[in-house]
Amino acid sequence: MTVRGVLFDIDDTLFDYSTSERVGLLKHLAAEELLELFPSPADAVALWRQIMEEEYTRFLAGELTFAGQQLARARRLLAHVGHLPAGDPSDDTLSVWFARYTTFRKSAWAAFPDAAPALSSLAARYQLGVVSNSTLAHQREKLHAIGLLDHFGDAVLCSEEHGAPKPDPGIFLAGCALLGLPPHQVAYVGDKYDVDACGARDAGLRAYWLDRTGAGADVPGADGITVITSLDELVPLLAA
Ligand SMILES: [Mg+2]
Repeated sequence: MTVRGVLFDIDDTLFDYSTSERVGLLKHLAAEELLELFPSPADAVALWRQIMEEEYTRFLAGELTFAGQQLARARRLLAHVGHLPAGDPSDDTLSVWFARYTTFRKSAWAAFPDAAPALSSLAARYQLGVVSNSTLAHQREKLHAIGLLDHFGDAVLCSEEHGAPKPDPGIFLAGCALLGLPPHQVAYVGDKYDVDACGARDAGLRAYWLDRTGAGADVPGADGITVITSLDELVPLLAA
């Protein structure tokens, strides 16, 4: 069956979120003189990642706004190291703290090296788009900053504006509709096995799970999911 369109996840698929998060956090904590309060830099990054996963899940569930999950993350990290200002810090205080973090994080924003070459190769033969669990303004700014936005035109769909996050089948189908293609003619590429690969497969798309670290090599690529470890593999696979 011919694939005519490809939809991508953004974070840790096209964009190296994990590196920007780690670099940004460590620079921020050093500047705030908080880094020495953690047993190690790796411990700080692990805690920040855990807090992010938990609060971002609440954002995706509609319990927090996008800005609200940022405030919650700042509050929890500062409370963990005993540096929450006396009394209840205002949202402004936390917002400014988080903004200082995002300045460092943005300075480390980068696409994975395989992203631009793969998108350039695919653009000649496929319609390209993005389906992301985030907000449109944030993701468009990010894609623009790393030089990838022009590959997608208006085919950038985010859960905040759509109304439901991956793995809800509706957001995958809405992404296909943006390309003007039925789901069986669309491939989806993402780094999260459950949210991206299983979600896309269950919505009727052709699912590619991007396992960059090879951590899930033992997970069979069965059940309608193809495992790749680099975007370089996508071009020949789709053409086959
Ligand atoms: Mg991702």
